[in-house]
Amino acid sequence: MSPDVFIAGGGPAGSAAAILLARAGVRVTLAEKRREAHHKVCGEFVSGEAVETARDLGLDLSALGAVPIQVVAYATPSGGVVRRTLPFPAVSLSRLVLDEALLGAAEAAGARVLRGVSVQGFDLDPDGGTTVRLDGDGPVQVPAFFAATGKHDLRGHARPEGRQGDLVGLKMLYRRAVAPSDPVVTIVPFRDGYAGLQPVGQDAVNLCLLVSRRRFADHGGRFDDLVRSLVAEAPEIARQLDGAEPLLDKALAVTRIPYGYVRRVTEGPWWLGDQAAVIPSFAGDGIAIALESARQAVDTLLSGGTAAGYQRRFASTVSRQVGAATVLSQLMVRPSWQRPSALLAAVPGVLAGIGLLTRVRLPTGA
Ligand SMILES: Cc1cc2nc3c(=O)[nH]c(=O)nc-3n(C[C@H](O)[C@H](O)[C@H](O)COP(=O)(O)OP(=O)(O)OC[C@H]3O[C@@H](n4cnc5c(N)ncnc54)[C@H](O)[C@@H]3O)c2cc1C
Repeated sequence: MSPDVFIAGGGPAGSAAAILLARAGVRVTLAEKRREAHHKVCGEFVSGEAVETARDLGLDLSALGAVPIQVVAYATPSGGVVRRTLPFPAVSLSRLVLDEALLGAAEAAGARVLRGVSVQGFDLDPDGGTTVRLDGDGPVQVPAFFAATGKHDLRGHARPEGRQGDLVGLKMLYRRAVAPSDPVVTIVPFRDGYAGLQPVGQDAVNLCLLVSRRRFADHGGRFDDLVRSLVAEAPEIARQLDGAEPLLDKALAVTRIPYGYVRRVTEGPWWLGDQAAVIPSFAGDGIAIALESARQAVDTLLSGGTAAGYQRRFASTVSRQVGAATVLSQLMVRPSWQRPSALLAAVPGVLAGIGLLTRVRLPTGA
């Protein structure tokens, strides 16, 4: 039997949409190209809005091992660190765990979840429906197609470069030699990029960084060489990685991230998550945006609205946050701005203000 909705991608956006649709009694199939649970390039900072939406979707993030994050720290070029209480609740949680729990919840809600199945593309049918092409399986005709493939564009539907598209994202998990004394997310600007360091679980730290393609190429595209030079350049990275052991065989990488992109129109599909809008990573709100896109798309579909209407409304929900975060992200990677930005970060209220400015929606607990 054909589904009413077909979803490409089992990240936060696709899974959340599958849960909400299945709960509403809609026949929904989701295809996730990866067969197994996997790590993703992510700071693993789950903001308060995302925590609340995940709770509404039936997930208990504490039970999954989430660690509350209460403090944001901003490292200065002179080696100091400005610390401020986060103006909203947040947690740290491995994406491998979070994304798998969301997919499991989708299946439990009644969605059909296909693992190891990749969507190759889609064709718009004259009757307004969509034919979805799958690898290794026949095409599926559906009334509605949700595209939630995150950083991977569907063939023939590449997103434009965005406003800050020249950064490479890299991530490595380390076992720390010394357990962190308190739950802090630390942002460390460096020449041509910035890093986020955050505890994950009891004794691991996640190093997630964004660096210009040019600087990464200067290090031969080798993560270890880049990290060695950052340890020499940024005392806070040296301090947190002192004696730490890598936990992954190799660093994860993602290129061509169209930061600042917001999709305003659609020719047919319902574009969700990173396919709808891409907020710079330091904001730590991409997961919340992905979940919110799912909520808005499903609400619109269930109330008889159109994909075009949803896309317009969602773009207007997120464009201010994405725009503000992109301007700040562009300044953060500019060497001439790193000293002034450290001075600015030390002014009471500034870090909290930036945190609030870059939320898609304030958590009610804030
Ligand atoms: C460096 C970096 C750091 C970040 N740090 C944070 C952070 O700390 N906090 C935060 O909130 N956000 C962060 N983000 C953003 C966040 O990761 C994304 O916004 C979020 O994952 C988007 O969710 P999504 O469901 O749209 O896509 P994804 O999470 O990318 O999921 C898409 C899924 O689709 C699958 N897929 C892809 N193509 C196909 C296909 N053709 N067929 C079937 N399946 C397919 C993929 O395997 C994947 O599982 C960060 C991003 C980057 C790049």
